Amino acid sequence: MDDLPRRRSRPPERAWFCSDLHLDGGDPGGVERACAFVDHALAEGCDGLFLLGDVFKAWLGTNSLRDAGLAPFLQRLAGAVRAGVRVVLLHGNHDFLLGRHLEQALGVEVPGRSVDVILGGRRAHLSHGDEYCTGDVDYQRLHRVLRFGPLKGLLAGLPHAWQVRLANRIQGASTEATAHKSMIEMSIVDAEVERRLSAGADVAVCGHVHSARDAELEHGRLVVMADFESTGSHAVFSGGELRLVRVDPRWVLGRACVVALDGPAGSGKSSVSRQLAARLGFGHLDSGALYRAVTTAALREGLAPDDGAGLGELVGRCSPSLDAHGAVSLDGVPVPDSELRSEAVTARVSRVSAHGAVRAGLIEVQRGAARLGAGLVAEGRDMGTVVFPGADFVFYLDASLDVRAARRLAQNPGEGQDLATVKDALAARDHSDSGRDVAPLRAAERAEVVDTSELELEHVVDLLEQRVVEGIRRLLSEQRAAARVPPGAQGSGARQARAASS
Ligand code: C5P
Repeated sequence: MDDLPRRRSRPPERAWFCSDLHLDGGDPGGVERACAFVDHALAEGCDGLFLLGDVFKAWLGTNSLRDAGLAPFLQRLAGAVRAGVRVVLLHGNHDFLLGRHLEQALGVEVPGRSVDVILGGRRAHLSHGDEYCTGDVDYQRLHRVLRFGPLKGLLAGLPHAWQVRLANRIQGASTEATAHKSMIEMSIVDAEVERRLSAGADVAVCGHVHSARDAELEHGRLVVMADFESTGSHAVFSGGELRLVRVDPRWVLGRACVVALDGPAGSGKSSVSRQLAARLGFGHLDSGALYRAVTTAALREGLAPDDGAGLGELVGRCSPSLDAHGAVSLDGVPVPDSELRSEAVTARVSRVSAHGAVRAGLIEVQRGAARLGAGLVAEGRDMGTVVFPGADFVFYLDASLDVRAARRLAQNPGEGQDLATVKDALAARDHSDSGRDVAPLRAAERAEVVDTSELELEHVVDLLEQRVVEGIRRLLSEQRAAARVPPGAQGSGARQARAASS
């Protein structure tokens, strides 16, 4: 096509990446979710969109260009190109017949199996990722054959009905073979990634294995996105940083998701929720910091912790708020951590937070945090019971008083307290938090209780992350089953129309 839009050659400043969308013209829900992703990326000012293979369940050359079910997505990509976005589609193992016809029809780039881009001055090697799975010998052999140029030409020239039959047969055989393979056989071999990195890349970004990973290897960084199809996983480069989002419920459930995490002081809640939020790419709400902010304001004004009416009035007046990084402000002025976590505040906060008026005054600030981003990990005492009763995932972390006191002591070694004093202070706070009338500390009925006394922090984060990712996958498959198109109405062959290329 002569009038292909001019491509951007500048390195992207805000790039979005995903892979393994497995789009099928017969599954409008999947196509809709992918469209929502592209729309969102564009709305966020994306100037590079990189789809790292298996974008389609099967790409059958020019026949797929006419698949009416895929048309909304293909039109989105063409629209993005027209808007000046660099759109790149790489070959996966499902869609290796992608090629020049797609470039000509949509103006996107289809460079083949990999491409290098400069992200913030660092070279990123983008590929589908199957080339790193060298332990899967049968797979590598089959795909070497399928990618053989003359054979690809032959496949592309077959009548559409034959292509569909062949694609179904290859995919059926591959699913069957996968069921008999071990995870190790099918996973990424780090040494292969190291080889690629040491040949001249700072970071390798890929998908394929359907499980997210962000690792610093010896020669650079490896970012593996899980399949977009069932997790909404993707990566974003912006502000000079490449961030992996392991799961994004907005594109699988159509909304953000809330993880509520309650528990007493020292149960590991803060460290766990921070790390969990970072791993999932969710926001983090430290609700305790809001109660501490009100207590700080009360101390500054000389208000007694038992003055319920005065404190209720104070909450409305001092406008406690949280920014996207969790920093707390009073009247827009950040409160230093040293003040927020001072002994004076810690000693009074439980009494201040026991007043209904204080709690009521903070509820909207907390709920507002859930309206931003892909999801929220909210930690506190009443996240699962009061603030987010409809949370998608509810956990309650606990640990013995001895363990909690020892952790606190280790966290604040310079404060010169002894174990018995710390234990007494924690017990008093527990008593006040769980004995109050309003929103007492307790596990929500549907909370999964995790005793962290004997567990490493890393282990708890792993466990919760696994629950959330698996839970979102499950919610999506339930949603899909409910919306399943009746047999016969499915299949991209039935939906051929002159749509995408128009
Ligand atoms: O989590 P952190 O120890 O910073 O919380 C300080 C205090 O704030 C708790 O002891 C509790 O009294 C109060 N709080 C609360 N409800 C929450 C979070 C914290 O009452 N959701």
